[in-house]
Amino acid sequence: MTELKADVLVLGAGMVGVGAALHLQKRGRDVILVDRHELAGEGTSFGNAGLIESASVFPYMFPRDFGRIFQYAMNRAPEVRYQFSDLPAFLPWLVRYFLASSPDRALHSAMAELPLIQRSLIEHEALIAEAEVPELLRRTGWLKLFRSDGTLASAVKDLERAKQYGVAGEVLDGSAIAAREPNLTGEFAGAIYLPAPGFVPDPGRLAKAYAALFKRKGGRFLVGDAKTLEQVAGGWRVGGVNGAAVAREAVVALGPWSDLVFRPLGYSIPLGIKRGYHLHLAPRGNAVLNHPVLDSDLGYLLAPMNRGIRLTTGVEFARRDAPPTPIQLRQALPRAHAVFPLGDAVDAKPWMGARPCLPDMLPVIGKAPRHAGLWFDFGHQHHGLTLGPATGRLLAEMMTGETPFADPKPFAVERFG
Ligand SMILES: Cc1cc2nc3c(=O)[nH]c(=O)nc-3n(C[C@H](O)[C@H](O)[C@H](O)COP(=O)(O)OP(=O)(O)OC[C@H]3O[C@@H](n4cnc5c(N)ncnc54)[C@H](O)[C@@H]3O)c2cc1C
Repeated sequence: MTELKADVLVLGAGMVGVGAALHLQKRGRDVILVDRHELAGEGTSFGNAGLIESASVFPYMFPRDFGRIFQYAMNRAPEVRYQFSDLPAFLPWLVRYFLASSPDRALHSAMAELPLIQRSLIEHEALIAEAEVPELLRRTGWLKLFRSDGTLASAVKDLERAKQYGVAGEVLDGSAIAAREPNLTGEFAGAIYLPAPGFVPDPGRLAKAYAALFKRKGGRFLVGDAKTLEQVAGGWRVGGVNGAAVAREAVVALGPWSDLVFRPLGYSIPLGIKRGYHLHLAPRGNAVLNHPVLDSDLGYLLAPMNRGIRLTTGVEFARRDAPPTPIQLRQALPRAHAVFPLGDAVDAKPWMGARPCLPDMLPVIGKAPRHAGLWFDFGHQHHGLTLGPATGRLLAEMMTGETPFADPKPFAVERFG
């Protein structure tokens, strides 16, 4: 069997790994993308809600008000659920998440991520043009619906804060909602319309289109298991189904599976996960959904994907590899049917994914401190589709000695001691 040689191995061909591979390639590096699947974008990057969230300045932190926490503890909030039997496995992580969500620390996370968020759509636009897939970016923006005056008022306050950082948004009343989405029915206190974010009607295909661009420009793809990664003289080696690959440097971009590589190398990084589900349904008759729509108080989102209306759920805390428990999806279905004319399910069963999250909701990007030539790029939480290309640029700039466009310090793994 042949042994491939390159400058860099990028482990994981999700949106994050593909984004890093393309930016390294642009800077003259010979890159091999490695994934256990034959195609890119088959992991978490396949099943998300398709939002390039360039307006999400404030990351999703742990709530601080007692009422909300009580609802979570009782498993009564539609947007968050936890698997009681798995509680011992994720409770220590939840405590860290809670501590990292104090107002000061949450603001620190938001400000650290801001340059990446502001860059997110620009990076996608450039890659979409190069990959020649303009149909995969829709300029619809998205809508957040609110059913109570209280939740609407709190969202309007958040919007006012976000406006200080250049976010555009509009508060809609019932008739303005009906003008944007004539097929919605329900009693809404109001909505927020965010016009700027991009919408990707097939996120898995976008990752594949980027991977195809990478290959067109001379990049190689290796089907193999990242767990076989080993340090060898002069670099790193990974096993593939048709032979191994070696390179001077390696990037861990395995999303929620990144621990499979960093843990055996002796790194104790608090990578947690927030699981989520989706199911596609056919719209009934001629019903059209013009934007992705979040039913905020009921905790689910409807997105007009190419395959049908994708219903995505909020967060489920459970072990990554525990069997799926799509209870939130089952709860959301009748609510979604009441809001929009939905027909039959298009998928045979729900899809499940896991958002890779660090407690401070910032990714880990940068050098592995104890291994020469090893780099990390994972933990993109709720924003991996959004940030993959932007963090790919940041990582590639760091790896090639360019001046990084954003301060990389907040993303260093050393922040966990
Ligand atoms: C329900 C839901 C909705 C979401 N909505 C949005 C949204 O609207 N906008 C947004 O920006 N983000 C959203 N996200 C988050 C986003 O999907 C993730 O942050 C992102 O996909 C993470 O990308 P990644 O490349 O790091 O991981 P992945 O896409 O999971 O890629 C990791 C890759 O590693 C490979 N791999 C794993 N183990 C091995 C191994 N042993 N050997 C080789 N390869 C391996 C996998 O096959 C996979 O291709 C959502 C997530 C969920 C679950």
